Amino acid sequence: MATQTDLSTYDLLVDGDLVPSEAEERFETVNPATEEPFAAVARARAADVDRAVGAAREAFPEWRSTPPQERGRLLNDLAAEIRAHEESLALLETRDNGKPLSHARADVETCARYFEYYAGVADKVHGDSIPLTDEYVDYTVREPLGVTGQIIPWNLPTNIFGRSVAPALATGNTAVVKPAEQTPLTAVEIGRLATEVGIPDGVLNVLPGFGAEAGAPLSEQSEVDGVSFTGSVPTGIEVGKSAIENVTNVHLELGGKSPNVVWPDADIDSAVDSTMTGIFANAGQVCSAGSRLIIHEDVKAEFLDELTRRIEAMDIDSGEVDPDMGPLVSAEHFEKVTNYLDVGRTEVGEPLVGGDALDRDGYFVEPTVFDGVDNDMRIAQEEIFGPVLSVIEFSTEAEAMEIANDVDYGLVAGIHTQNMGRAHRFARDVRAGQVYINEWFAGGEETPFGGFKESGFGREKGLAAVDAYTQVKNVCADITPN
Ligand code: NAD
Repeated sequence: MATQTDLSTYDLLVDGDLVPSEAEERFETVNPATEEPFAAVARARAADVDRAVGAAREAFPEWRSTPPQERGRLLNDLAAEIRAHEESLALLETRDNGKPLSHARADVETCARYFEYYAGVADKVHGDSIPLTDEYVDYTVREPLGVTGQIIPWNLPTNIFGRSVAPALATGNTAVVKPAEQTPLTAVEIGRLATEVGIPDGVLNVLPGFGAEAGAPLSEQSEVDGVSFTGSVPTGIEVGKSAIENVTNVHLELGGKSPNVVWPDADIDSAVDSTMTGIFANAGQVCSAGSRLIIHEDVKAEFLDELTRRIEAMDIDSGEVDPDMGPLVSAEHFEKVTNYLDVGRTEVGEPLVGGDALDRDGYFVEPTVFDGVDNDMRIAQEEIFGPVLSVIEFSTEAEAMEIANDVDYGLVAGIHTQNMGRAHRFARDVRAGQVYINEWFAGGEETPFGGFKESGFGREKGLAAVDAYTQVKNVCADITPN
């Protein structure tokens, strides 16, 4: 077991400086592939939140008045710096989170792309002019919210850092970021790079720490003007309540239990590929995972044979050797997912494939498929957030639609078919924020993302994030001669 002195240390980023927490406390992050701690990280609490929010408040007037093209230039510089550090950031992410290195590299690239995309948006945030009568000139302007707080989960730490911070800064807000306690390191590193490229002190602050100690004070801080929360439904409700108490702008990006509908006329090879990606990428720890396979009775046997064959060939190992699938993020999450393997066994019996933890150090579980699932079972309704697929059979279009929508969540939905009329009827009727046709995880930085139903409200990504991070001011002038 490593001791505190063996560990690399990481600080808070407050007002452009890397500093210890006020209480000078640290917590350890654990490598999920080895169960060994490897970093000692400053542990933010309410006093640090107040300090960071104060710095962000002070930096706001100047940042807001910085010419948009200059803000854009700085964000482009940050994107380039993130790319220049791709390998070290990816390795840090893999050690923190467990994901395969190639996935971590892709997340770093996505983060860079968010900064690049919103760098381009910075000088294109304009309002409208509204025709009233000849006596008036009326126009709108979009103004930044002010100080914004970004509370980030552990599953895609680098990706979601870019997704929520880049549009905030591009539109003239300052930011205080609270990364997840399991995976705080890339946020601190990217914050450090931001200061190196010249993003002014206080514009971006990063506070590693725990939810109750740092996340809750951030969402309750009355000087925060907007909160972007990405995480679970129960925490989202807490954050939402605090924001409402302060009459603060909030958007919630929450969980999912997304339907992946497969018809017999689909390209089965490609549908199996998408299904694998949809549920096993990041060991199933993805909000938009395709965790319910809703499959037509005529193709089910053939499809599951091929799926099983490919799952049995999967390579599961430490993310650092870049396998098909790495470990789960933490001991706590391992407990949750393995408990769901028991729930599945109770509800439908032995899984078709997988179903156990790996007999080695690290939080590894097998990719698992439960067949014969009814949509009202817990393994069909609850977000497991692990590599566990529930297979539900259907025979008619109406039945597939009903099963797809019969869930509290509504984040994404997918359909595999060559019948485009059917695909677009599904897209029309499914209650989800994104629909994938013959693909999974389609879309990019440019496409709006967010949930229906309990998957949240508000949209990030694309130009929709400009709405999330700005408020509209209407200006009306009487121009009648006097
Ligand atoms: P979580 O809700 O436990 O934690 C998310 C963040 O909130 C962490 O930084 C945590 O420290 C913080 N937090 C915890 N308690 C808090 C409190 N009382 N007040 C303020 N902040 C608090 O979620 P998680 O387990 O880290 O992430 C997994 C969940 O996130 C899943 O449900 C997943 O679907 C969801 N998610 C959603 C999206 C999306 O875009 N919709 C993306 C990724 C993950």
